[in-house]
Amino acid sequence: MCGIVAYIGPREAYPILIKGLQRLEYRGYDSAGIALLNGELNLFKTKGKVVELVDYLKDKDLKGNIGIAHTRWATHGEPNQTNAHPHFSQSGKLAIIHNGIIENYGALKKELTKRGYTFTSDTDTEVLVNLIEDICQNEKVSLEEAVRMSLNQVIGAYAIVILSQENPDMLIAARKGSPLVIGIGKDDYFIASDATPIIEYTKNVVYLEDEEVAIIKRGEELQIRNIKNRKKTPYIQELEWNLNELEKGGYDHFMLKEIYEQPRSIKDSMRGRLNARKGIVSLGGVSEYEEKLLKARRIIMIACGTSWHASLVGEYLFEDIARIPVEVEYASEFRYRNPIIDENDIIIAISQSGETADTLAAIKMAKSKGATILGICNVVGSSIPRLTDAGSYTHAGPEIGVASTKAFTAQVTILTLMALRLAQLKGTLPKSRFMQLLHELEHLPAKVEQVLDDKGITEQIAKEFKNTTNFLYLGRGYNFPVALEGALKLKEISYIHAEGYPAAEMKHGPIALIDENMPVVFIAPSKGIYEKVVSNIQEVKARNGKIIAIVTKGDTTVKKMADYIIEIPETEEMLVPILATIPLQKLAYYIAIMRGCNVDQPRNLAKSVTVE
Ligand code: GLU
Repeated sequence: MCGIVAYIGPREAYPILIKGLQRLEYRGYDSAGIALLNGELNLFKTKGKVVELVDYLKDKDLKGNIGIAHTRWATHGEPNQTNAHPHFSQSGKLAIIHNGIIENYGALKKELTKRGYTFTSDTDTEVLVNLIEDICQNEKVSLEEAVRMSLNQVIGAYAIVILSQENPDMLIAARKGSPLVIGIGKDDYFIASDATPIIEYTKNVVYLEDEEVAIIKRGEELQIRNIKNRKKTPYIQELEWNLNELEKGGYDHFMLKEIYEQPRSIKDSMRGRLNARKGIVSLGGVSEYEEKLLKARRIIMIACGTSWHASLVGEYLFEDIARIPVEVEYASEFRYRNPIIDENDIIIAISQSGETADTLAAIKMAKSKGATILGICNVVGSSIPRLTDAGSYTHAGPEIGVASTKAFTAQVTILTLMALRLAQLKGTLPKSRFMQLLHELEHLPAKVEQVLDDKGITEQIAKEFKNTTNFLYLGRGYNFPVALEGALKLKEISYIHAEGYPAAEMKHGPIALIDENMPVVFIAPSKGIYEKVVSNIQEVKARNGKIIAIVTKGDTTVKKMADYIIEIPETEEMLVPILATIPLQKLAYYIAIMRGCNVDQPRNLAKSVTVE
């Protein structure tokens, strides 16, 4: 979950490392640190965000053209200065940065303690760096060999970079379960946990595979071996993202920028995949698997968090229009509950980052049982797309705000395209209806534009409810997942307790919470089971709850009952989730801002959840 940056080359390392940390801060931000080698190894670290590190470094000597840097998302030991990375080995000659968890660190630590090692931090990481040092000294092997030998003893997940005082022209990087990218410059190398700090220097990158160790030497070609010492050929890929996509572009926050990017990100997700006039919908990445999808006894969608909500929309879509049974699973539950899966099953794994640890593990488990695995991810070259049989990228562009917005609507867009393609192949929709849906989908980005231009209504509602302590979100059918997603957004960034429910379930419990202090957000578009939702609104009204309703433009019935309404343009029922989610993202954003919260980096969260 943390951010890793490292540099080796002719330039001063510090400016590159610190800028890289700032770009990566969305991944973890409880403490930060940097180690620079300039004859001797200098280590600087602080609790808190990267700005605090910058402040602390103001009057320090920051020379050196090799270095490693880290923003931490604590797993072992509280987020303080001592536990911040980099960590030194006992001799002070090796420094390490690490993303992930060394699960057997307890046993290793015990052994090393017996051998005279003492530890200054509570981290699992410090154990690993000392294990490497111990092997180096006792086995009389090179650092490279010692890293390989120690990684053979480690259980868990890691992305690591090691800097050694005795090897001033070399960095060693390795990964298992946590991502690591190596950027290849003209005469320098950039290493990072994702490509964001690298893009401005080079577009040529190598994604390390699990259990690979890279030996990165100044002025020499990149060497990769696996931990069993088998030589690997680096596969150089070209990055697609641009630098300006990583900047705020005039917006106060990445999250707001990303909310407003949705007309474009949805269009980008459909680009080359939809031609409404010709009746073509195609997803090149999965076309070879269409036959299999059509014959599937069932499809299992696995995901976590917001992607899990997108999967739920997917379930409604696939069953409704393509008539294929779908089950939606939390990856973290699925992987541990001994599910019944075989080669007839198709798994669709959904993850923005493509690195979600639980989703990755669930994929591996399903794969071992013979299932076919498809992926829907945003980050090109990330671990999930490399592990799946096939898949479709969402093309939403980099999402930096920790709370997912444009990635969600892009995921739903891809699922919509998939469902339509399967419906076409299966003949479950009359041709005219199919064409109508394609047309409407093509016009969706323009309607998203209209939703975004809400004349300040979401801000006004936010002002009214910013001090509330609870919120309820209710929707039915396609809009039940929207209710869940709306509640999650609010929780994530404003720290207000919020729950999403299927509207009719309210009377089985949550109705007890309703009084004049309880705001209830209804997703009540005119399509679907509108009258039933209207009855649910009545039930809340009768108990003096405050009603905020998302309605179709021109609605008069709900307008009379609700305290506030947010209008969205008329669209097909199956496309409402995309339109209706957007005002909920904005509502959460404004409430969080008014409460003084850091919307891009909400407390305790991290963007790419690479630990289970
Ligand atoms: N397990 C390590 C720690 O707690 C690394 C955490 C991270 O990925 O930031 O320090």
